[in-house]
Amino acid sequence: MSSLATDPRTSAPPAFDALVVDDDDFVRTVVAQQLRGLGAGEIALASGGHQARELLRDRPHFELIVCDLMMPDSDGVELLRDIASQSPESALIFMSSADPKVLRSVEHIAVKRMLHVLGSVQKPIRSASLKELVRRMARGRPDCPDERPCPGVTEAMLRDAIVDNRIRIAVQPQFNLLTGEIESAEALARWTHDDGTSIGPGLFLPLAERCGLMDALTDTVVERALEAVGMLQKAGIQMRIAINISPSTLTRPILPEHLVEVARRHDVPASRIVVEVTETGIAGDALPPLEVLTRFRLRGMELAIDDFGTGYSSLARLRHIPFTELKIDRSFVAAARADQEARRIVESSVRLARDLGLRTVAEGIERCEDAALMRALGCDLGQGFHFARPMPPAQLLGWIGSR
Ligand code: C2E
Ligand code: MG
Ligand code: MG
Repeated sequence: MSSLATDPRTSAPPAFDALVVDDDDFVRTVVAQQLRGLGAGEIALASGGHQARELLRDRPHFELIVCDLMMPDSDGVELLRDIASQSPESALIFMSSADPKVLRSVEHIAVKRMLHVLGSVQKPIRSASLKELVRRMARGRPDCPDERPCPGVTEAMLRDAIVDNRIRIAVQPQFNLLTGEIESAEALARWTHDDGTSIGPGLFLPLAERCGLMDALTDTVVERALEAVGMLQKAGIQMRIAINISPSTLTRPILPEHLVEVARRHDVPASRIVVEVTETGIAGDALPPLEVLTRFRLRGMELAIDDFGTGYSSLARLRHIPFTELKIDRSFVAAARADQEARRIVESSVRLARDLGLRTVAEGIERCEDAALMRALGCDLGQGFHFARPMPPAQLLGWIGSR
């Protein structure tokens, strides 16, 4: 496993086995030495992709693989393919003197291959940078287990979960970055098992999509979400609720009416509902989704474009769809402090949103410094683990009370 318990005395991971791949003898020796100093047990060395592949075939359980991206017999992208198939649990560190943009792209490919990327170090390698990345290994994989394939889940199980009311929501508040007030919360689907464990949407949404269960799932989430705002309202707390609607559901003509009807039942004004759609959800030029989106607005609901910057939305689309809010994807938010380009993307997204009269939400704020930067860049709202993790609605009520 790539997740290692931390040794409380040193805050370093306990002994781990490592593979170092580089065609340069000197680099291999130096990195191996540094890793040994950081607690590595056994260290295998490979002088290129070919030898690395053989080593992985013989013993595919290195906790850590540190690899160069450009070797005479293979490049890092080719090697990633083998690591993904032979040693998917290994944590990865890339080292290279390549353009940082290329490094980022390799990291992105690795993440897409579900690998656990600790980060990259520029050559010549500084032991402090390597140490920082090795420390990350002790924290284990980031919070994305739900995106990994889980073969035990079947259509029948999901259908039962929907029928038996075991699909719940977690709500994550969104804060006004100037005043600190909670203005809204996003409803996120959760599948709760009998034993209390919860499966995230990354796993069951694709299944719901494949099995034609998305409409039923959406109805459940809508009901729970409006029930939650209704409950908060009764306790004197007024906020908007954001509900994610998948592209396939956007073609359902009855949806706007349905949301209004459920809202009415829970005494919630339609203006408190924010419908979130991703850029990919509106990628085509088909009429039905455009009609449904416009009808949400005609009925007084708000409309947010989710994960902005990751899809292919054209500026024309932003003009033709009556959005009221733009959510800047968390990949830009997380990178903005260290990476000029990401910061510029956030800056220009905020400017664009402002020019179009849209509210901006920065997603995935994990640190206090990120919140400060997003505020400085002019974002209106912030959402992320730094403020609050998604939680059951009843808990949000208590959480607000205790603030
Ligand atoms: P999203 O709509 O962009 O929702 C935000 C996701 O980011 C949530 O993941 C949330 O837990 C996560 N998140 C929030 N703050 C942070 C942070 O500071 N750091 C990190 N690393 N993550 C953070 P979740 O709940 O796993 O949902 C993933 C996606 O699944 C959602 O992304 C949304 O696209 C989709 N989804 C969730 N619920 C529903 C639903 O009811 N219907 C539909 N159609 N899609 C849903
Ligand atoms: Mg969303
Ligand atoms: Mg999002």
